[in-house]
Amino acid sequence: MNFQITDDQESIKASIEKICTRFDARYWLEKDKHGGFPNDFVAALAADGWLGICIPPEYGGSGLGITDAAIMMRAASEGGGGMSAASSVHINVFGLHPVVVFGTPEQKERYLPPIARGEVQACFAVTEPNTGLNTTQPRTRAVRSGDKYVVNGSKVWISTAQVAHKCLLLARTTPLEEVKNPTHGMNPERVPIAAEAVGLGHLALSHAVRYAKDRVVFNRPIGQNQGIQHPLAQNWMELEAAWLMTLQAGWQYDNGKNCAAAANSAKYLAAEAGYNACQRAVMTHGGFGYAKEYHVERFMREGMLPRIAPITPELIMCFIAEKVLGLPRSY
Ligand SMILES: Cc1cc2nc3c(=O)[nH]c(=O)nc-3n(C[C@H](O)[C@H](O)[C@H](O)COP(=O)(O)OP(=O)(O)OC[C@H]3O[C@@H](n4cnc5c(N)ncnc54)[C@H](O)[C@@H]3O)c2cc1C
Repeated sequence: MNFQITDDQESIKASIEKICTRFDARYWLEKDKHGGFPNDFVAALAADGWLGICIPPEYGGSGLGITDAAIMMRAASEGGGGMSAASSVHINVFGLHPVVVFGTPEQKERYLPPIARGEVQACFAVTEPNTGLNTTQPRTRAVRSGDKYVVNGSKVWISTAQVAHKCLLLARTTPLEEVKNPTHGMNPERVPIAAEAVGLGHLALSHAVRYAKDRVVFNRPIGQNQGIQHPLAQNWMELEAAWLMTLQAGWQYDNGKNCAAAANSAKYLAAEAGYNACQRAVMTHGGFGYAKEYHVERFMREGMLPRIAPITPELIMCFIAEKVLGLPRSY
C-alpha cells in the first residue's frame, strides 16, 4: 500500500497554487460582492493547459486520471477562491467525461479540443424543477428527428449556464418503462466535488487558525484556549480522513475498479467536513465572522454547495444503505 503522492502530482499542486496567488482574497471578494464570472481565472488555468487535464492527448489534453484532477481541484479551491473558483472550471475539467468514455470519434474531435483549450465553456444539466433527486426519471425527452434530436423539457440550477457555450444535457431518448437499466454512471463526478470540499474546508481552517493566533482577548490569543483549539484540530482530522477517502475513490476509478461506494462516501464525508470547518471558522472569528471582509462567511455559504449538489447527504446514505449494506431500497 502506497500513500505517497507522486512527484508529478506534487507538481500539479504547486502549479495550481502558483496560479492562485494571482487571484487573492480581494479578487474573490469583489466577485462575490458584484457578481460576474471569473473569466481571467479560467483563462489563466486554460493558458497553462489545465482545463484539459482529463482529456486524452489526441484531443488536446493531458490524459491524466481523476486522482490528478482531484489534486488540481483541491488546490484550486484551497488557493483562495473556494467553490467560486472550483465551480468556474469544474465542468470543463471533468464534466465532459461521458463524451471521453462514450462519445463517437466525431463527437470527441468536435467537442473536446476547444474545451481543453478553454475556448468553450461547458455546463452539465441534470436537475429539473419537478424531478428532484429522482434523476433516473428526467422528464426532459430527446426525440430523434432525421439527423437531429428535438428536445423538450426544463432544467434548473445549472452552474455556469449563463456563460456556457455548450451544455451536456441529461435527457431520456427511450421512455422509462421501456428501459432495462434506468441508471447512469455519475459516480466519478463525486471525486472532484469531494476534493473541492476538502480544499474549501482547509481554506476556511487556515483563516480560522490565523485569526486564532492574532486575536487577543483576556490578554492572550484566543487560540490558546482549548475551546478554540479542539474544534479546529477536529476539523483538520475530519478533512484529512475525507481526503484519504477521496484519493481512494480516485485510485479505484483510475484503476478500472468500481468506485461507487468510495466516491459517494468521499463526497459525503468531504462535504460534511468542509462545511464543519467553514462553520467553525465563522465561530472562531466571532462577530467578525459575519463581516464579508473576513471572507469566512462566504466560505460557509459556499460550503453548502458540495453538500447539496450533485446529490444530497440523505440520498448518499440511501445509496450506501441499499447498495453496500443490502438493506431494502427506501426511495
Ligand atoms: C449552487 C448550486 C449549483 C448547482 N449546480 C448544478 C448543475 O450544474 N447541474 C445540475 O444539474 N444541478 C445543479 N444543482 C442542483 C443540485 O444538484 C440539486 O439541487 C440537488 O441534486 C438536489 O435536488 P433538488 O433541489 O431537486 O432536491 P429535492 O429532490 O427536492 O430534495 C429536497 C430535500 O429532500 C430530501 N429528499 C428527497 N427525497 C428523499 C428521500 N427519498 N429520502 C430522504 N430524503 C429525501 C433531499 O435530500 C433534500 O434534502 C446545483 C444546486 C446548487 C444549489
